[in-house]
Amino acid sequence: MAKTKAARGVSKKSGGKKTTAKASPKAGKYVYWFGRKTDGNGTMKPLLGGKGANLAEMCRIGLPVPPGFTITTEVCTYYYANKRAYPSALKTQMQAGVAALEQQTGKKFGDLKNPLLVSVRSGARDSMPGMMDTILNLGLNDDTVEALARKTGNPRFAWDCYRRFVQMYGDVVLGVQKRPDEDHEPFETVIEKLKHDRYHQDIEDTRLTVDDLRELVLRFKALVKERVGREFPKSPWDQLMGAVGAVFGSWMNDRAIVYRRKYNIPSEWGTAVNVQAMVYGNTGDESGSGVAFTRNPANGAKEFYGEFLINAQGEDVVAGVRTPEPVAELKKQMPKAYNELERIRQTLERHFKDVQDFEFTIEDGVVYMLQTRNGKRTAMAALKFSVDMHKEKLIDWKTAVMRNPADQLEQLLAPVFDTADVANAPVIATGLPAGPGAASGRIYLNADRAVTAAERGEKVLLVRVETSPEDLRGMIAAEGILTARGGVSSHAALVARQMGKVCVCGAAAVEVDYQARTVTVVGRTFKEGDWLSIDGTAGKVYAGQVKTAASEIVAGMLEGHEASKRTEKFRNFQQLMKWCSDATRMAVRTNADTPEQTENAIAFGAVGIGLCRTEHMFFEGDRIDAMREMILAETTEARKAALAKLLPYQRDDFAGIFRALKGYPATIRFLDPPLHEFLPHTPEQQADLAKKLKVTVETIQGRVHQLHEFNPMLGFRGCRLGIGYPEISEMQARAVFEAAAIVQKEGIKVRPEIMIPLVAFKRELDLQIEVVHEAARAVQAERKIKLSYLVGTMIEVPRGALTADEIAQSAEFFSFGTNDLTQTALGMSRDDSGSFLPQYAELEIVKKNPFATIDQSGVGQLVEIAATKGRAGRPGIKLGICGEHGGDPASIHFFEKVGLDYVSCSPYRVPVARLAAAQAALSAKA
Ligand code: PEP
Ligand code: MG
Repeated sequence: MAKTKAARGVSKKSGGKKTTAKASPKAGKYVYWFGRKTDGNGTMKPLLGGKGANLAEMCRIGLPVPPGFTITTEVCTYYYANKRAYPSALKTQMQAGVAALEQQTGKKFGDLKNPLLVSVRSGARDSMPGMMDTILNLGLNDDTVEALARKTGNPRFAWDCYRRFVQMYGDVVLGVQKRPDEDHEPFETVIEKLKHDRYHQDIEDTRLTVDDLRELVLRFKALVKERVGREFPKSPWDQLMGAVGAVFGSWMNDRAIVYRRKYNIPSEWGTAVNVQAMVYGNTGDESGSGVAFTRNPANGAKEFYGEFLINAQGEDVVAGVRTPEPVAELKKQMPKAYNELERIRQTLERHFKDVQDFEFTIEDGVVYMLQTRNGKRTAMAALKFSVDMHKEKLIDWKTAVMRNPADQLEQLLAPVFDTADVANAPVIATGLPAGPGAASGRIYLNADRAVTAAERGEKVLLVRVETSPEDLRGMIAAEGILTARGGVSSHAALVARQMGKVCVCGAAAVEVDYQARTVTVVGRTFKEGDWLSIDGTAGKVYAGQVKTAASEIVAGMLEGHEASKRTEKFRNFQQLMKWCSDATRMAVRTNADTPEQTENAIAFGAVGIGLCRTEHMFFEGDRIDAMREMILAETTEARKAALAKLLPYQRDDFAGIFRALKGYPATIRFLDPPLHEFLPHTPEQQADLAKKLKVTVETIQGRVHQLHEFNPMLGFRGCRLGIGYPEISEMQARAVFEAAAIVQKEGIKVRPEIMIPLVAFKRELDLQIEVVHEAARAVQAERKIKLSYLVGTMIEVPRGALTADEIAQSAEFFSFGTNDLTQTALGMSRDDSGSFLPQYAELEIVKKNPFATIDQSGVGQLVEIAATKGRAGRPGIKLGICGEHGGDPASIHFFEKVGLDYVSCSPYRVPVARLAAAQAALSAKA
């Protein structure tokens, strides 16, 4: 039945007084300075990218930022529109920018006495961690390296910079990268080989001598020559232009494209490029580099959170190659620098009024800021940040609501390990808790195999030595990610958190053997396909499969679990939901077919049922037999007899639902799916039914054959069933009203809203309405009771939408069935689109899956037309949506714009929909 229908179930304002620069670009200005003179500010992200705009903003509020300049995103757009060429004015403006750096630093680009080195970094409007390229120490060659060594009196440092530069430039600009058959980067292989040649073991990079580093540079350059067929560029300006081109080029690399698709970042935005004077974290033990968050981005705690490496450049921290130390250690090792960072942490939060994720370098004890941006956070952290910052009066409650990404909220409802089960599970390793939650899966050691396994329907854990951005596809496919090396702020760990993936990093005891495809932990070996479980909240790794249990929010809300209700997470969640109720305009209902689902949805805050698919009630126990009997009946009498058997079931189900609703309305949709979905198709089932109905198998087979349709989704279904067999609708209407009468007599308010599916013509609806009214009259007379009810329709075929003004004359409400509306408007089967939609997304024919997120410009138009015409036909008509899009945040924003009265979604999506509806209402007012 898998494919059957019936079975389917801140941006902050820069507040500083100096931030007065205009946010609009100047024509022909491609380079914006920051430093002693700062052209840009924090509001200019579209033009300067997030990094460039915030570097400018940090300069404006007096934070220590090495000087630099930003090449605008307009140049990126120009570059792609003009066969990768630059605007003619760019070079001169860059030359002026470099001259300004020379003036401020007292160094000169390419100088043989005191050479200026620069970093070249990408910076898109929205940060895309690790997806694009960075080059450090640019400006070094065989001559300037000697000058740097002389000037600093530190040849080891100079050669360390040079080998890093050749490696990065070789990788990023010249494309010397891992080939498909290699598991390691070629430059890393050269390093390993040198270590083994000279030391016969794997030593720390910091122990390499000047001579080792000189040798490495030679071997690196030879590798470049061999792979690219030309010499490594010597001229600093050639290097700079090559690097800028590579950064722009990286906007269109594979992983950036995958990332943009996942996060819906338009490719037209382009990236900016930041060229900045280098400061060095690798001059010795008074230097270092780090990444920090102003609060803990995993659990939301108000603590200085981050990590650093002594004697290292920034890339070492984020690349996850060495496992860094927690920032609190810095307090002991460099107290002055730590205090300065504490001061910066507070300044950043006061100014940006949001949690910041920043990069810093300490050069000989002096702190420099290299970047700040709003920190990516888990749903749990987002919730705590928003509630705490509201308490601290940093933000108002509306901002607090907006700070919780609706599409991440489900993470809070994600399962945790079952306490009893996990108590018996052996912890085989511990690592850093990088992405909270509990995940159990079969291990795979490479992204492609993880993807393939997930496609087979397996639950997958991706296990890597270190996670890297190339693993993105595998990370998307996996339930969780486990790495042996790397810190909680390694780029890929950040990405994992943002995706809401469970992640444990730096579990040093985990030995990964890519060749043998095994993972060994303290003598125990696991092959690919074996089960491991990870707890990303505690950083623990368990052997085997561990059962999962409901989160505190689910336990507290749905099961009334008292201890869960006392947790901070639960209370914060309740606070957020209360704010949502205050902000929202649209109501949130649920799609539910049982009392239990209804109770759950109401506990989550739903205010009624927006869709009860009655066909789901016909599958349980003996009901399916009566249903089959009804379908196979050859006469009206026989059909009525079978329906009479179904009536009590249906009535009891409705009564249960009305009780669970406690007075909230219930939209009950009459039988909708094509009948073949109920029929027995295998010979065994057919024989079984023949016996039960006391007819021959041939009779059953004949009828099944008769009912066969070439295109059942466009066949005898929806209101066509009730029109063909009015006795079906009559039975369903009677069941609704009898149940309503029973429950109303118990003192519970009952508000049935009967909904006729798949209406394309007003007359179809009129015929069905008559049947409903007749049943209502009969039941009210028999039971001596007055019932109030509505009769309306689904708008789910284009003709229904286009003639909505006529239909509204009869319908008391509309509910948009956007699943069928998408299917019929696009002429794309909702059950078969899986075979071609992925390619459509790949080719950007569709931006998002139209069955998940409403196709605004196509299907959306039909919704808008129907809403407008519906209101014309019946002023004040109630409008809702009950297709899957009712639980999708982006679609909910659209429905707010259209002015629908409610959205309806599955019970567990209700909190997401409430948050999205509140945010949509707040955005509409803003
Ligand atoms: C719809 O078509 O959007 C709808 C809600 O009905 P169903 O999914 O049951 O066809
Ligand atoms: Mg439908």
